[in-house]
Amino acid sequence: MCSCKGFLAAILLSFATVTAQEMPKNQPPVWSAKPDIPVFERTENDRLAAAQQSLDRLLAVRAARTVDNTLVPYDDVIRQLNSAADFANIVENLHPDKSFRDSATLMTTKISSARSSVSLNPAVYRALASMDVQNADLATRHYVQREVLAFRLNGVDKDDATRTTLKKLRDQLAQDQSTFQRNIIDDERVVEAAPDELDGLPQDYIDRHKPGADGRIRITTSDPDASPVISSAKSDSLRRRLWDASYNRGYPSNREVLRRMLRTRYEMATLLGYASWADYRAADKMIKNGPNIGRFLDELHAASRPIAQRELALELAEKRKLDPGAKEIFSYEFFRLSELVRRAQFDFDSQSIRPYLPYPEVKQGVMNTAATLFHVSFKQEMNVPAWHPSVETWDVIDHGKAIGRFYLDMYPRPGKIGGGAMSVLLDGVRGKQLPEGVLECNLPEPTATDPGLMDYNDVVAFFHEFGHLMHHILGGQQQWAGIGATSVETDFIETPSQMLEEWMLSPQVLASFARHYKTHEPIPADLVLRMRRALSFGAANLVEFQTALAATSYDLHKENPENIDPDATMINDMRRFMLLTPIPSDAHRYASFRHLGSEDYSAAFYTYLWDKVIAEDFFQQFDQHNLLAGDAPMRYRRTVLEPGGSVPANDLVKNFLGRPQNTVAFQRWLEREFEPVPEHESSSGQ
Ligand SMILES: [Zn+2]
Repeated sequence: MCSCKGFLAAILLSFATVTAQEMPKNQPPVWSAKPDIPVFERTENDRLAAAQQSLDRLLAVRAARTVDNTLVPYDDVIRQLNSAADFANIVENLHPDKSFRDSATLMTTKISSARSSVSLNPAVYRALASMDVQNADLATRHYVQREVLAFRLNGVDKDDATRTTLKKLRDQLAQDQSTFQRNIIDDERVVEAAPDELDGLPQDYIDRHKPGADGRIRITTSDPDASPVISSAKSDSLRRRLWDASYNRGYPSNREVLRRMLRTRYEMATLLGYASWADYRAADKMIKNGPNIGRFLDELHAASRPIAQRELALELAEKRKLDPGAKEIFSYEFFRLSELVRRAQFDFDSQSIRPYLPYPEVKQGVMNTAATLFHVSFKQEMNVPAWHPSVETWDVIDHGKAIGRFYLDMYPRPGKIGGGAMSVLLDGVRGKQLPEGVLECNLPEPTATDPGLMDYNDVVAFFHEFGHLMHHILGGQQQWAGIGATSVETDFIETPSQMLEEWMLSPQVLASFARHYKTHEPIPADLVLRMRRALSFGAANLVEFQTALAATSYDLHKENPENIDPDATMINDMRRFMLLTPIPSDAHRYASFRHLGSEDYSAAFYTYLWDKVIAEDFFQQFDQHNLLAGDAPMRYRRTVLEPGGSVPANDLVKNFLGRPQNTVAFQRWLEREFEPVPEHESSSGQ
């Protein structure tokens, strides 16, 4: 219990040392002027005009290129275009009025063509590339190097004929990528089931799936429909039929589309001077080149295999209760058996945690935890208008000074985008512009009769997104708009938020805010520890599965694709990296693997696992008995978050860890389900 006292004292202290101050008058909240559509369009057009002016200024220079005459106007172009795009994005995603959203959609198209006229402009490239940055500071040099590389990756340095060819290839690729995605979305399949095949599913699921006039129940391959059957139905036959239907989506049509995409990508990459598309896509990331992706996946495999074997032994024992001769676990059985093992061995029911998670307390807890961890405070700006009356406006205060602002738009409503995300609203520029961001969530809104109980996963997601917000604001205090936190390498961007998810698995952190909505009892440590172990069960096999997908994403793009057979690549990678036995429909699952249809992820599906490895390595630097204490939080803020995108992410990692990342902590995370249960903790909740 003493660590809890320390924890509470830390919270009190962090609030006591902070005196709130108003945001500068020159940066009112985004909606203060209560814009209508014409005002919104005028604001946006003014930003586009300002960007054009700075671009003209940059291009008019005849003297030698310097930071002052080139990077200053260039960064202003970036800042203006980003401000315009970010504002339009918020309106498009969140404004309750459809005509307002439509106007933002049109604006987005206009802004993206203004962006291309900069990012594909050879004169801008030549200006940046010929700049003398010898005497500039490290951040400025990194910024220029990164921008010059981005222009080269777009082929802006090539001759006219090559650029014309590249444009043709890029258009072809864009079209195929969109067809690939369309083919997946349009190919929702339906499986028919007899009513007794729904045995084992929750009653509300059964109620939502009544038989038709023919007595048959129709189940689609959409996630809310299919997932519960895959993990809970007793009928093995239904599960397998639904698995087959799910992984045949997009097949066979996407086989040919994929092969065409692979050829186009290879041609683009070689025109740009790279040996493969995997090399090309890795060039601006932490991982640097394609072969490093292959090596990383082998390392992961070595780390996860022993734990995957232990998990599989438990699953096989469970399977043998029904099928004594069973020798292997098929892919489609995994989620069902995992659920049975969780129930039998880990004594955890996910419903038991919801009563401790009413939204108002969770919100306060998430904000208090972030405030303590990052040594900041938050002050709400009251009576400030926003695009919807439910949106709250908050200032982030550091040492008595406002350093940024965020908006909480937390509840669903018609026309609002689904899911949860942090969207940037303004980049930060030191002394010029404070960073702003928006948290977009769709959480149950509490009412007089409903406390707004949250699912545990939503609490984790809330803190995850809040982590992006803190990264954006703390990292948004740079000299240049273009090197804020969101400009960090794409295979690092999820790391800080992935790490923060661990805070929501700490009994001590959860007990500080998670109280039973009726009894006000803090959540028992025992319940949290049982949840930690239960959630961890199956993680190693899931990592193996993700590794197989990452391997396919890499293998399809690592060389000349002329002779590639996607079915064989997919099934071979599953056999190589997974203990689970694939079934024939698994060979087709690339056809609905939407990341393959995205230019960013195409060869780079490894990024999720890469970020997780770094996140767990970071996490082990914190005091495991009190995640908010000691010097790690402030050291983390200074070395990882505050630099934003001003240094290469590999340096951020080395600066915090004192070495490059490795898989030791990741392996510890994987085997958490086998952690011994401390005696006093296992008995306290009984
Ligand atoms: Zn994220």
